[in-house]
Amino acid sequence: MNKKDIISLEKILIQRRTELLSKSNSNTNRRKGIDLDGGNVGDEIDAASQNSEKEMYFELVSNDKMALSAVNDALSKVERGIYGKCEYCEGVIPLGRLKAIPWTKYCIKCQEEVENPKK
Ligand SMILES: [Zn+2]
Repeated sequence: MNKKDIISLEKILIQRRTELLSKSNSNTNRRKGIDLDGGNVGDEIDAASQNSEKEMYFELVSNDKMALSAVNDALSKVERGIYGKCEYCEGVIPLGRLKAIPWTKYCIKCQEEVENPKK
C-alpha cells in the first residue's frame, strides 16, 4: 500500500470519527438526529425499527461506541505505521477491503474465523 492510499483512507477514518462523535454528543436528541442523519445508516435503522424504541436506542449507542473504538484503533495504527495489517495472521489486508471498511482489523479470511470460530 502506498502513502497516497493510506492518506486517503486516513481521511475517511477521520471523517467517520467526526460523524460518530457528533452523533454521540447529540444523544439527548437522538431520535431527531436519526431522522436527520438518514444516509448511510438507513438499513440499520430499518432493521432496528422492528425492535422497541428503547432497544433501538441502546443498540445504536453500543454500535456507535464499537464503531468509534474501531476507527480510533485504525487511526492509531496509521500513526504507528502498521495500518493495513491483519491483527490475527499479520498478513496484509487487501486495499479493496480497506477501501470498503477502512477500520477493519482483519483480512477477510480471519474475519470469518473471528466471527465463526471453528471448534
Ligand atoms: Zn488475517
